[in-house]
Amino acid sequence: MKKVLLLGAGYANMKLLTSINKEIFSQVQWTLINNTPYHYKTIALHDVASGKHNRSVLFPLKDVLDRRIEIIEDYVERIESHTVIAKNGSYEYDYLIVGLGFSSDSFGIPGVVQYTQSITSYNSAREIQDKITQALQRYLQSKEINDLSFVVCGGGFTGIEFVGSLAQELKKQCRSIGIDFSLVKIYCIEAMPKILPMFSENLMHVALQKLTELGVSVLMGSKILECRQGCVVVEQNGKQNEIFANTIIWTAGVKGNEVIANSPFFESARSKVAVDEWLQPTKLNFTQQDSHTQEILESIPKLHNIFIIGDCAAVKDEKTGRFYPPTAQISAKQGEYVGQLLETLFHAQKTNQEIQKDSLPKFEFEARGSICSIGQGYAVGVVNNKEIKGFSANCLKWLIESQWGFALNGLGGVFRAD
Ligand SMILES: Cc1cc2nc3c(=O)[nH]c(=O)nc-3n(C[C@H](O)[C@H](O)[C@H](O)COP(=O)(O)OP(=O)(O)OC[C@H]3O[C@@H](n4cnc5c(N)ncnc54)[C@H](O)[C@@H]3O)c2cc1C
Repeated sequence: MKKVLLLGAGYANMKLLTSINKEIFSQVQWTLINNTPYHYKTIALHDVASGKHNRSVLFPLKDVLDRRIEIIEDYVERIESHTVIAKNGSYEYDYLIVGLGFSSDSFGIPGVVQYTQSITSYNSAREIQDKITQALQRYLQSKEINDLSFVVCGGGFTGIEFVGSLAQELKKQCRSIGIDFSLVKIYCIEAMPKILPMFSENLMHVALQKLTELGVSVLMGSKILECRQGCVVVEQNGKQNEIFANTIIWTAGVKGNEVIANSPFFESARSKVAVDEWLQPTKLNFTQQDSHTQEILESIPKLHNIFIIGDCAAVKDEKTGRFYPPTAQISAKQGEYVGQLLETLFHAQKTNQEIQKDSLPKFEFEARGSICSIGQGYAVGVVNNKEIKGFSANCLKWLIESQWGFALNGLGGVFRAD
């Protein structure tokens, strides 16, 4: 039996495994490796980090996936031409689907790795939540004002969703433990002259006003030069400033998963693999022993055995010539697409048909829009080229996001409690 190995239980691979024709599970051996026994809703991690949500974003893999899929909890370290090397063992494959998601990008700015924390996984978001609570508790003892100062680096989508949620949750936490919220300082630092660059000036101003109401100081055009213990050094209008805070969260950039950069088998940039229109790597670096495999790949226009999906894939939008931004929306679509390709491939193998790559549909994607929440009950966004804002935008976001939980776990996946 052919072995299909999937790496990462994120949006891309979960969509693949839940949308594929179930008959195929008995024709091929399916194995999923993930570093946790659950799938988490990455798009809600800012609310986990702020303390608004907790376990409601988790979906145990054994509850939501077909029982015929072998689930292995392991940490992938490196990918080679026929083997995946992980912490607890190595795994062979005939087909490999890489969906390991993203990691934080410090852009080489000094101190980011040492002195800031990033929202990159459920566990990292929980650590941030704990750090925030600890800072408030420490303040009660020490009255050290920097324990009440919080800096969010980056005014993109994740930074704004997080800082909005943080402002609201801090207010609640301060009230419950007796800290005067007016003493709390919350900064959001952005190097560009505007936040949320994907939206219009108009929507940006709506977002700015809402953040100000929530008590967030947004510093635009402020380039982060360095992060230190308890301090962020910024340059604004040619002048250097220090912003003091004992909690610094880095949301200023993401790249693909480090596993990609650690695998010389792939040609990568910023830990992402450049893929073709069928989501297959455009180049693979084979060793001498694998020269036979390489010859096969190069001589026939067939699908080969590796697909890269989700945030690890660098996919170009042929219309604009630019890479698609990493989103759950495109990741899920890629998972669904590769699932369909595999169905066609395995059906062809069963009926002894040859498939030419060119005859297969290419990956296409049209974003439906995006909605950025700014605290509970408020959002701004663009859907079907129309700008939306306020409570209705927030409801629409909730509805769209709930569909994911519903698809995985029925109504139990929509109304989950922490
Ligand atoms: C706070 C936040 C808000 C966001 N909001 C939105 C939004 O509103 N809309 C939107 O479309 N996108 C949003 N995004 C982006 C979106 O979440 C990502 O683009 C999407 O999750 C990528 O999906 P993926 O399948 O590639 O990987 P992920 O969903 O990140 O999943 C990767 C999986 O791989 C596992 N893994 C990672 N490394 C290893 C390893 N070494 N070994 C084993 N397993 C490993 C992880 O545990 C995880 O299960 C948001 C992102 C963040 C952080």
